[in-house]
Amino acid sequence: MDMETRESSLELISIVVPMHNEEAALMDFFAELEAVLTPLGFPYEVICVDDGSRDGTLEALIQLRKDKPYIKIVDLSRNFGKEQALTAGLHYAKGDVVIPIDADLQDPPSLISAFIDKWKEGYDVVYGIRDYGDLGGTSSRWLQNLFYKGFNRLADIKMSENIVDFRLMDRRVVKALLQFPERNRFMKGLFTWVGFSQVGVEYKPNKRVAGNSKWNLWKLWNFALDGITGFSTLPLRLWSYFGVLIALLSALYTFVVVLRVFVWGIEVPGYASLMVGILFFGSVQLISMGVLGEYIGRLYREVKKRPVFIVRETYGLEDVKDG
Ligand code: UDP
Ligand code: MG
Repeated sequence: MDMETRESSLELISIVVPMHNEEAALMDFFAELEAVLTPLGFPYEVICVDDGSRDGTLEALIQLRKDKPYIKIVDLSRNFGKEQALTAGLHYAKGDVVIPIDADLQDPPSLISAFIDKWKEGYDVVYGIRDYGDLGGTSSRWLQNLFYKGFNRLADIKMSENIVDFRLMDRRVVKALLQFPERNRFMKGLFTWVGFSQVGVEYKPNKRVAGNSKWNLWKLWNFALDGITGFSTLPLRLWSYFGVLIALLSALYTFVVVLRVFVWGIEVPGYASLMVGILFFGSVQLISMGVLGEYIGRLYREVKKRPVFIVRETYGLEDVKDG
């Protein structure tokens, strides 16, 4: 499709915003979003997914909707997590292009016009790449980089580093994403997995306008595990190779022990090597069982086929869909 046809086919832009306790950020968020979207001249909707907020996020949204009918609300029955909230939002988005964005203005809405320009050029996915530049390296960013490096080594897909959920997707890409039945919603991975023509746009992230980040080290660790187990079976397969290696070494050592018995006769001391052997193999077995456990736990979750999210109520949207 050339530029003009794409542009003339743009009838609706859907913005999807997962929100968990974001009451304090809402005014600034909508003000900035409107300032960017209105001049573009295309109709738009903003699908706000209230992910079990305990502050006044939902009430504030319902209030704001009175003057801003472009705001549509999906109220989830509890806190499901950002990936699930995002999935819920994608179910409801009707736009020809769909743009997930965080409510805290860390992703600058001003980038949206650049996204749309790239989409007009023919790209199906335009994703943001956080350029941290001279913002300084915190330990969590260092860990993040380590994760992306490790992920790309292990996984079946290659993910750009510093890739974010903030992106534009063509209708077709969203349709593809909605076909994923899996409960493990590692969206950054799924976004890459679907393919299509993708291009990145760098931007400098802002500080949160209000409220706090919902991440802590433990959540990040589990997020990383979800990512790796969702896109790689290498941690499972590793153990066979490791076992073969240890078996070879053991055969060698057995040979040495037997030889020593024949050359020097029976030796009694050997407590240290026995102890080391028992402890070493004990821990190796526990680790390998732990890795198995990670996958079995996830298999169990997938097999049960529970819905990814449950909707309590929607505002400005036609029907209630769970999924
Ligand atoms: N969020 C959500 N459910 C959660 C946690 C976060 O919908 O359980 C939303 C949150 O309101 C925000 C976005 O996901 O719009 C990103 O969250 P946050 O800013 O805490 O993450 P960070 O930017 O630190 O990665
Ligand atoms: Mg944030």
